Amino acid sequence: MSRDESEPATDDQVRYDQARYVEDGQYEPLLSEKDRTRVEIGGDDSPLPDDLTRDSLELPALSEPELARHYTRLSQMIYGIDTGPYPLGSCTMKYNPKFTEDVAALPKAAVHPDRSERSTQGTLELMYRLQDYLGRIGGMDAVTLQPPAGAAGEFVGIRVAAAYHEHNGEGHRDEVIVPESAHGTNFATAALGGYDVVSLPSDDEGRVDLEALEAALSENTAALMLTNPNTLGLFERNITEIAEMVHDVGGLLYYDGANLNALLGRARPGDMGFDVMHYNVHKTFATPHGGGGPGAGPVGVVDELAPFLPAPRVREAGDDSSGSEPAYELFDPDHTIGKVHGYQGNWLVLVKTFAYIARLGDEGLLDASATAVLNANYLASRIEYDVPYEPFHHEFVASAGDQDAADVAKRMLDYGVHPPTTKWPEIVPEALMTEPTEVESKDTLDRLAAAFNAVAEEDDEILEAAPERTAARRIDQTAAARSPRLSWHALENDAS
Ligand SMILES: *Cc1c(COP(=O)(O)O)cnc(C)c1O
Repeated sequence: MSRDESEPATDDQVRYDQARYVEDGQYEPLLSEKDRTRVEIGGDDSPLPDDLTRDSLELPALSEPELARHYTRLSQMIYGIDTGPYPLGSCTMKYNPKFTEDVAALPKAAVHPDRSERSTQGTLELMYRLQDYLGRIGGMDAVTLQPPAGAAGEFVGIRVAAAYHEHNGEGHRDEVIVPESAHGTNFATAALGGYDVVSLPSDDEGRVDLEALEAALSENTAALMLTNPNTLGLFERNITEIAEMVHDVGGLLYYDGANLNALLGRARPGDMGFDVMHYNVHKTFATPHGGGGPGAGPVGVVDELAPFLPAPRVREAGDDSSGSEPAYELFDPDHTIGKVHGYQGNWLVLVKTFAYIARLGDEGLLDASATAVLNANYLASRIEYDVPYEPFHHEFVASAGDQDAADVAKRMLDYGVHPPTTKWPEIVPEALMTEPTEVESKDTLDRLAAAFNAVAEEDDEILEAAPERTAARRIDQTAAARSPRLSWHALENDAS
């Protein structure tokens, strides 16, 4: 049905729009549905040609309280970290302390990237110190801050590994080994990096199968990508042996740092024998996560790989400075793979990372990892679903058993909590991959457990109809991701 724009929408038209998206009266009308006042905008003295100007516009004329209520109601229709817990597994930190936002919002935090080194010494110092912090946390010798996400960090890490092999006349190495339990980005990174991906099965306990690894390794191995604890939350006990096996054939060991929270301040990938790693600062160091970023995925490497890192990096200026010379400078590593992002990456994200690490200090980081592991273990002990693989660390993977994990997730929304990650990793049937994180209290964990347990008792009919108490019912997730309709006008035109 098409509308005469100069007339207010009839009740029928409004109801028609509503019926398409909403059930149970949870609908919040658009501002333009609440009021369609035409406002004269008198364009008489406009210098623009007549056919490019209008003399009236349809604008909702609403009072301030009506506006405030509209936006408040919209905010209540969505679930967010400020409303409740977010136990998505393999995503780690979902809550970002507000103080890091404050620090990044300081007017002085934002500097124009084209300013001279001399006038941005504070910025360079922060970068230098962050490189140093991350290097010490990971046990790595050199760090680049440029990559804008974990997956981007993986890609940089693999390109650096490739450049290293190439430089050593080992360019024939064309295979990257990835455990089958690995995050999807690992497979994608290896493939995009031009490698053949060799998938590695897990043993009965959910860890790397050493015999399978032995069989997969060869003179063609460029690298093995691992996360430790792995995506089941299990620590790879044989990590030093694994590292030795990989190094013996001349391969490199890549650490996917998404699960670093379990290790912070306790163990370092560098000490385990890893040669290159990325940090998911939005999963470990308080920067926003979700919506595609902006994030940051710094990459750390051991000395042998440092010359291949992206350019530029930051270092202390030479000792020959007379005191009036800048203390920090940018430089290009000798065999750099080049730039992977404009300037220095997502700068303000790095400011938040620095602020968080500096505020927590050594003890705070230790405490964060201890609490993350404790919370995961406490929650798992309270839920009725089976957790097949133990002992886990910062996250666990429960099985929904006879229930469909996706239905369980939808039903949990009815109990006012966000569901865990579902259906992955595939080693666990109907996986509920759960990571409560270090920020939740015992009270919240009990509430989460109660939601899990209530759903565990329910029959399929209820689960399949869920969610019932949310603003939107079951949506077509594939269509929402593949062909999102972001414009109300596009929807309106469809309806007409
Ligand atoms: C999230 C995640 C990644 C990818 O990181 P992004 O920043 O989302 O690109 C890689 N590996 C694991 C294990 C992860 O959980």
